Amino acid sequence: MYQANENRYKDMSYRRCGKSGIVLPPISLGLWHNFGDVDVLENGKQMLHTAFDNGITHFDLANNYGPPPGSAERNFGEILKASFLPYRDELIISTKAGYGMWSGPYGDWGSKKYLVSSLDQSLKRMGLDYVDVFYHHRPDPNTPLEETMSALDLIVGQGKALYVGVSNYNAEDTLKASKILKELGTPCLIHQPRYSMFDRWVEDGLLDVLGDEGIGAIAFSPLAQGLLTNKYINGVPENSRASKATGFLQKESVTQDVINKVIKLNAIAENRNQSLAQMAVAWLLKDDRITSVLVGVSTEAQLLDNLGALKNLDFSDSELEAIEVVLKG
Ligand code: NDP
Repeated sequence: MYQANENRYKDMSYRRCGKSGIVLPPISLGLWHNFGDVDVLENGKQMLHTAFDNGITHFDLANNYGPPPGSAERNFGEILKASFLPYRDELIISTKAGYGMWSGPYGDWGSKKYLVSSLDQSLKRMGLDYVDVFYHHRPDPNTPLEETMSALDLIVGQGKALYVGVSNYNAEDTLKASKILKELGTPCLIHQPRYSMFDRWVEDGLLDVLGDEGIGAIAFSPLAQGLLTNKYINGVPENSRASKATGFLQKESVTQDVINKVIKLNAIAENRNQSLAQMAVAWLLKDDRITSVLVGVSTEAQLLDNLGALKNLDFSDSELEAIEVVLKG
């Protein structure tokens, strides 16, 4: 029987999520890859134990994580039952709906019909009565925002989620969604955008909206799916995400241009006595509007490496400038 590390909260400083009562660890663990039926359950279990033992209280899922879709939630549910039930009240568990999940017209996008039934399915797969955060996973251009937001409000009213969030919404839609949710009395807790040194779209308006509206931010793919580490410098290693048929990162994304930047960033990280992964995480956390950085890992060692980022979160002006030069080059 898993017994959590007694000192798990000793070294972790939590960050407030927008203007809410919730704090999150600066590093959270996502289950998009590495927890499906194609993966090794025991490895997933080990990574979740190590995460919690080190003060990571937040695990992020979605209805479609796997593969096959749904299997990450089911596998997580098994691990939860075996290890984490005594700790349920110490955990923030999130899930989402917004991508294609089942056949027919009601298993995708942002209708109330889809969101409510998808969350019911997710709760069954995970063996939970409620999730802490339920997200609309991506904007739906064909469903009125009022309907999608009222579905989120309904779900909270039903007690199936404590808080709600949106993911992949642009600045304008986020502002509209936030206003609707405030009127409904269910404020938006958090936004989950893609954000890394290689993908900085959030700096162009979204982070300002989040700051102004008091919404937290949790950055996904902070390592650009592994590109912002030293692993691809000498080619695509076996078992890496870019090498796997089930991995979302395409081999073609590992271009010479990317690798040239990675080599230069790696040198800056070494001068800071950090791995590139650690520097990539720290670089996101320099903005206090970023509540948490949502990493994915395929091994316990990667998770521990990423946690090492928290030992050096400060950047000198010259380091920041050197990073800008590489990124803009
Ligand atoms: P990352 O950018 O952290 O990429 C994770 C991958 O990077 C790992 O699988 C591993 O690759 C590699 N890696 C991680 N740490 C290290 C390390 N220290 N050294 C070397 N390699 C490392 O994040 P993800 O793309 O996995 O996204 C994280 C989470 O964000 C997801 O699990 C999910 O919860 C969420 N997400 C949300 C989306 C949304 O639309 N809302 C979309 C995508 C993700 P390898 O497997 O090659 O070892």
